[in-house]
Amino acid sequence: MNDKYNTINDKIKIFEEFCKAKGLKVTYQRLEIFNILANSYDHPSAEDIYKKVKPKIPTISFDTVYRTLALFDSYGLIAKVQYLDDKTRYDPNMKPHHHLVCIKCKKIQDFYWPDIEEMEIPEETKGWGLIKNRYLELRGICQECLDKEKKNQKTKL
Ligand SMILES: [Zn+2]
Ligand SMILES: [Zn+2]
Repeated sequence: MNDKYNTINDKIKIFEEFCKAKGLKVTYQRLEIFNILANSYDHPSAEDIYKKVKPKIPTISFDTVYRTLALFDSYGLIAKVQYLDDKTRYDPNMKPHHHLVCIKCKKIQDFYWPDIEEMEIPEETKGWGLIKNRYLELRGICQECLDKEKKNQKTKL
C-alpha cells in the first residue's frame, strides 16, 4: 500500500515539475485529470476518466477531458495505449515498462522486466535502424477472468 502512495505522489511531483519546466500551467482541472490517471492502474479510456472527474468538477465537458489528455500526450507526460478495441487508453506510467493484457476483460496491467532492457537484440533486427525503446505485451486471461470461468463451469455442472 505504502508503495502505491509513493508512486502517486512521485507521479504528481513529476507532473508539476514537468509542467513548470515546459511552461504548462498547472490548473485545477489539469491536476485533477492527471491525479485520476495517476491513481488508475487499469489504463483508463477518456470516457472512464471523464466519468471519474465529472463528480469532482461538474462543469467539465468530455471535450475538455479529451483535449487535456491530448495535451498531456503531446508533452510526453502520458502515453497512449491502443489495444483490442478502438478506444484509446491512457498510461500515466512513463517509466520503461511492459503490459499484461487480458483478452477477456481488456484489463491492461503494468509489469517490469529489466532483463529485457539489457538483453542483446536479435541479429535480424540489427541494421534495421535506431531502436529507441523496448516494449513487450503479454496477452492472456487474467486471474479474475479465470476464476469467473471456473465458477461458471461449476454452476453448469
Ligand atoms: Zn480479465
Ligand atoms: Zn502501462
